[in-house]
Amino acid sequence: MQASATLSVNETFVSIQGEGGLIGAPALFIRLDGCPLRCSWCDTPYALAGDSGEQMDVQSLARLARHHRHVIITGGEPLAQDIKPLVDALQASHVTVETSGTIFADLPGVSLFSISPKVGSSGYRPKPAVLRKYCKSAAGRMQLKFVVADERDRVEALELLAMLGDELPEETPIILQPESASASAHGRYEEHLRELTEAVLADERWRAYRVRVLPQLHYLLWRGAAGR
Ligand code: SF4
Repeated sequence: MQASATLSVNETFVSIQGEGGLIGAPALFIRLDGCPLRCSWCDTPYALAGDSGEQMDVQSLARLARHHRHVIITGGEPLAQDIKPLVDALQASHVTVETSGTIFADLPGVSLFSISPKVGSSGYRPKPAVLRKYCKSAAGRMQLKFVVADERDRVEALELLAMLGDELPEETPIILQPESASASAHGRYEEHLRELTEAVLADERWRAYRVRVLPQLHYLLWRGAAGR
C-alpha cells in the first residue's frame, strides 16, 4: 500500500450510481488505478495495470467532491492503495467504496462498502476470511454484490452465504447483477437479466436473504461508454 496523501487516479466523472442499493443516485466517481485481479469479464480493463493513473492529491479530490451528496470510490481495486486520507477528506459526503472483497480495510468513515465477492465465472474464488472481517467491522454499512454470468455463479454465491452463516449481518443487502461484458458481446443483456430474475424466483434458498436482482443501470443507459 502507498502511505501518502496522493493517489493514482484513473479517471473522475459525474454520473449516476448504476449498481446496488444506491442505484440511480447522482454521484461523483473517483476511479483509482490498478487491481491485483484479472476477472474474466472485467468491465474496466483500462484501470487494471496501475501504470496509467494521474497522481492526484487528496485535497484536490475533496474539492471535486464539494456539493456532491454521493461519492463513489471505485477502481480497479481502490483498496490496493491507502484511501484512508481520502475517505477522511470526504466526510461531508456519503462515501461508497466498491471493492472485490479480497483486501480488508478497517475504515469507519466509509458509509457503504459495496463488496463484490468473486465467484466462478470471474476466474477467482471468494475470500471468506476477508469477508468475515467486513461482517464484523462494517455491519449495517455493507452490501454484497454478486456479478452472475451463469448457474455456477449462483451456486457459489449461495455456498458463500451459507459459509458466512450467522456472521453475515441479517440486514445486509444481497445484490444479484447480471454480468454485462460478455452478455453484451452477444446482445443478450436483457435476456440474461430476465433469466437471472426467474432463476432467483424459482429457488427458495434465496428467500433467506435480503436479495435484490438489479441491472447495471449505466449499462442499460450508455452501454458501457467511458466516463459513464
Ligand atoms: S476486481 Fe474488479 S477491477 Fe479488478 S479485475 Fe475484477 S472486475 Fe476488474
